[in-house]
Amino acid sequence: MNEVRAGDRRVLIVGCGFGGLRAARELAKTDGIHVTLIDRNPYQLFSPLLYQVATGGLSEDDIAYSIRGAIPGVDFRRGDVVRIDTERKSLRLEDGAVLPFDELILATGSTGTTFGVPGVEENALQMKTMNQAREIRSRLLNAYEEIENGHRPKEHLRVVVVGGGPTGVEVTGAVAELQRSMKREFPDLAEFASVTLVEAGPRLLPMFSEKSSAHAKSELEQLGARVMVDAAVDRMYPADVHLKSGEVLNAGTIVWAAGVAAHEQWATLGLADRANRLRVNASLELTEGVWIIGDAAALEGPDGRALPMIAPVAMQMGIHVGKQIKAKVAGKPLVDFVYKDKGQMATIGRRRAVVEANGLRLHGTTAWLAWLGLHVFYLAGGRNRVSVVANWMWNYLVWGVGARPVVID
Ligand SMILES: Cc1cc2nc3c(=O)[nH]c(=O)nc-3n(C[C@H](O)[C@H](O)[C@H](O)COP(=O)(O)OP(=O)(O)OC[C@H]3O[C@@H](n4cnc5c(N)ncnc54)[C@H](O)[C@@H]3O)c2cc1C
Repeated sequence: MNEVRAGDRRVLIVGCGFGGLRAARELAKTDGIHVTLIDRNPYQLFSPLLYQVATGGLSEDDIAYSIRGAIPGVDFRRGDVVRIDTERKSLRLEDGAVLPFDELILATGSTGTTFGVPGVEENALQMKTMNQAREIRSRLLNAYEEIENGHRPKEHLRVVVVGGGPTGVEVTGAVAELQRSMKREFPDLAEFASVTLVEAGPRLLPMFSEKSSAHAKSELEQLGARVMVDAAVDRMYPADVHLKSGEVLNAGTIVWAAGVAAHEQWATLGLADRANRLRVNASLELTEGVWIIGDAAALEGPDGRALPMIAPVAMQMGIHVGKQIKAKVAGKPLVDFVYKDKGQMATIGRRRAVVEANGLRLHGTTAWLAWLGLHVFYLAGGRNRVSVVANWMWNYLVWGVGARPVVID
């Protein structure tokens, strides 16, 4: 633990994700500032690669970065923050500890939302945490063993993914590839495996151009997935997805990748939007000394729409707030946050991806290599980078053999 010296400004950062870690790095080792990071998990989760854990391509440790001791000069406290008092400037952890602060950075990210569709909560698997990814992996892989042993019907090899955003597209592509690779181990079951992607809107990846959306759809279909657009889910049961059109899709595994919202518990700290994100001023403050960043913050971009809930926004906000707090301590004025949009990308499968950046539109192998490179670049921790690259080389070179973990409980 680093000593808090008299006169130090105590900065608490709640949430060690993309935004929180960037803020901590910016503030580390600044004279007159004592920083404590707080998170319920002792690691930063690299969510963009969570779908690879869920489909057996990577192991859990590859996408988890240990936070304790990761940033010299910054303390870490593991705990669940259950209450924040912005007037008294203190917060309470689940174990009852009360921590005072001069500056608070709330970077708690987001969670899945079901939009109130009946049956989703009970029957669909979501993919926001490591536990959820583990559960999906276990369900997908165990289905083969159980069906082979005659304990479940063959129809349970069918998978339905709901939500045609980047996560839904990535999961669908990865499941289609997993099903292909499982042919080797379970040749008699291959014909029963299928994956269907269901999207309520008229196209996949609505934030991309129509051309990229169409490309993503056709690539998924080439991988063997069924893609349904304009198909809204009405309700769900353990092995059925009922669409508003009346069609019923049977599935042994249902993945819900359709909605995301900030944690509801903080919505009452200020004015929140429909996704529970707290509205902040242009320098990302909610009230004096309380800063909100990343998925938890609602700030309009130049087009009048709220900035998207993506990692680059969170990282840029983290760096910005770190700089603002340093400026404040130095008696300098605050400046507005300006988001620099560097483009967007989504992967579909091996050598299949879409990238749109600086007016450039890339599809196929080039886009996929760009996607691989950027993800390795942003992955925290040298060990993780080496491990992910080694895993990918093995998986992509030795296609269909050993591309999945052996320990499945
Ligand atoms: C499956 C998936 C795929 C994604 N793919 C992409 C992608 O390809 N590209 C992209 O740009 N973005 C992607 N995103 C979105 C991106 O991960 C988020 O926008 C980003 O993580 C937001 O950063 P953040 O700092 O706001 O929150 P996070 O990175 O989510 O960090 C929040 C942290 O807060 C902690 N926390 C929450 N509540 C509490 C509490 N009460 N007490 C203590 N700790 C708490 C959590 O444990 C977590 O560590 C993806 C997200 C998911 C789930």
